[in-house]
Formats: sequence, C-alpha cells, structure tokens
Amino acid sequence: MSDHYETLGVARDATPEEIKKAYRRLARQLHPDVNPGAEAEERFKSVSAAYDVLSDPAKRAAYDRGGDAFGGAAGGYGQGFSFTDIMDAFFGGQGAGAATGPRSRQRRGQDALIRVQVDLHDAVFGTEKEISVDTAVGCPTCHGAGAQPGTGTRTCDVCGGRGQVQHVQRSFMGNVMTSRPCATCQGYGTVIAHPCVQCSGEGRVRSRRSLTIRVPAGVDTGTRIQLAGEGEVGAGNGPAGDLYVEIVVANHPTFVRRGDDLHATVSLPMTAAALGTTVTLDTLDGEQELDVEPGTQSGQVTTLRGLGVTHLRGTGRGDLVVHVEVVTPKHLDDEQRALLEQLAVARGEERPDARLASHGTGLFGRLKDALSGR
Ligand SMILES: [Zn+2]
Ligand SMILES: [Zn+2]
Repeated sequence: MSDHYETLGVARDATPEEIKKAYRRLARQLHPDVNPGAEAEERFKSVSAAYDVLSDPAKRAAYDRGGDAFGGAAGGYGQGFSFTDIMDAFFGGQGAGAATGPRSRQRRGQDALIRVQVDLHDAVFGTEKEISVDTAVGCPTCHGAGAQPGTGTRTCDVCGGRGQVQHVQRSFMGNVMTSRPCATCQGYGTVIAHPCVQCSGEGRVRSRRSLTIRVPAGVDTGTRIQLAGEGEVGAGNGPAGDLYVEIVVANHPTFVRRGDDLHATVSLPMTAAALGTTVTLDTLDGEQELDVEPGTQSGQVTTLRGLGVTHLRGTGRGDLVVHVEVVTPKHLDDEQRALLEQLAVARGEERPDARLASHGTGLFGRLKDALSGR
C-alpha cells in the first residue's frame, strides 16, 4: 500500500495549497483523457485517492494517526468518492467540468400553432369551437421516462455520468482543456438500457385530441388565441409548450369587414328611392328596418350604429354601413313607358342638360371612396 504523501510527491507537513498544487499537476499528466493506458490510469487512481484523503482535514488527520478514512486506503477511487471533487480540483473549483455537468433529459415542449376557420357571425358574436389538435403527449407506456417499464437508466461509463468529456489540445500556450457533450449518452450522463418500445425512448408520442376553445367576439383573420400548456409536451416528461390558435374568418356572401365595421349594399327601385320608403334588411342581428328618405341617391350611405363587429378589446361594436344602389327599370310595358314619358315632360327632362364632370366626384366616386374607407 503506497503512501499518500509519496504518491503526491509532497512532504508530510505540506500545506493544503501545496497538496492541491501537486495533485493538479499530476492529474493533468495522468488523466485518462490525456494519457490513455493502463499504467497511467492506475497512477491516476492512486493520485486521486491520495488527494481525496489529504485534501480533507478530517481524513488527513485520521490517516496521519495510522487509521484510514475508508476500509482500505488504496481502494479510494470510486468508493464514496465524488467525481465532481476531482473535476473541481482538476479545473480549480468553478471549472468548466463542474459548471456544466450532465444535461437534463427533461425539456420544455415546443409551442404549437393551429389555424381555425370561423364564419363572420362567430367572429362578431364569439363562439365555442371544438378543434382537433395533433401534438406530442406524454408516452402512456413509460410515462415520459423513456425506458421500458421495470427498467431504468444506468450511469454512462464513457463520461462517468458527467455528460461531458474532456479533450486536451496542445498549443504554444500549453495544454488547453475543452469539454464536449459525451457522444455515447448525448450529454445526459445516463444511458437508457432498454428504450421504451412505444416512444423509442423519447418519453412522448404524437396524439390527436379534441379541445373546446372559446373564440372571443371580435376576432379577425390573424388573431391568435394562446392556450397555455396545450402545445407539445417536452421530451423526458418536460412541461408542454403553448398552443396558439390562429383565426381565419371566412368571407361572407353579403358583408365585407373593414376594421370593426361591416359594409353591404342594398338595391332600391328608382321609384322607392325617389318617393322614400321603409325597407327590411336581413342583418347579422336579424331583421332591421331602414328608412329610405325621399330623393335617396345611388351610392348614398346609411350607417346602422352598433350592428358591426364587436370590439375585441374594449366594449361596444362597430357599425353596419349600408350603400344604396338605385336600380333603373329595364323592361317597361307600354303603360309604364307612357307614365315615365309624362313624368319627364312634367319635369322638363325630355332633353336633360348633360355635362361632363371630373371622374371620381360623382356618384361612382363617392361609392368608391366609401368602399375603400376614405
Ligand atoms: Zn415510452
Ligand atoms: Zn456519457
């Protein structure tokens, strides 16, 4: 059984600082990543065991008294011996090896996005909708562990559970240590001996499920509804991401949406527009009466307050903007023609005074402006 002081090459009264320094020097020379080979590995083990005893004041005192902190002094390596301690000494406390360590198999799941189409009525008033989502869920066989039921993980024997392997590059400045995720365990520090058959060790599987979502009144195409924790479940039983439901509002055959206002056109016979009347409109809020003033022009706009789309934020609703289109009769019988000719004579309009005007200022211009929201 070798003497720990001799192994480290220090005096019996060496200070803790001298012991640490000696250990680091030897560990750099002998570490298996630097110096492969059975002999170096054996020496590295005894150097590490010696350091483990001599760096701990209590163990060192016991050793000096002739006793031993463990059952056998030479068997120190690997018995109640923390690898982190070696790495700490090796890299000087907060070294790279100590700071990183193995990564967790648990990861937060990704957010998921699904597009859902609603009709205009649902966008105006809000609705509940059942949707079908296809996301990763926890594996029912292994409950996220990734191992076949009844089996587990074992410590990776390549990296010793650290998840990192050290590499030494020689440079003009000396040896430079770098650490890389262990390829054998992908940096987890543990290996799944028998991966779950259902999820291949991922801990999650894809699954389609139904969700009932509340679509608030006022949504528009592009509105996103966030459902926390309804996205993809993470690997290794990690927390799920969020689910975003992106709304697509289907075009309506009658109403065109502009902001929170709705626009529609109503056709009126020439006589009704001239004489005035009351018409009944079929709106999203049911039948609504609209008073048509005598002398209503084609392109004239009437606003029905509060019959538009609900404001998504805040309260109240937009308006329903009704554009009037006056329809000129096309097919006149003899009696109707006679009546209209009488009217034309009475109004002195047999040969009307027609003058050209700038395009865009007449009726069509006004209609165009109203439709483009100007
Ligand atoms: Zn599984
Ligand atoms: Zn490993």
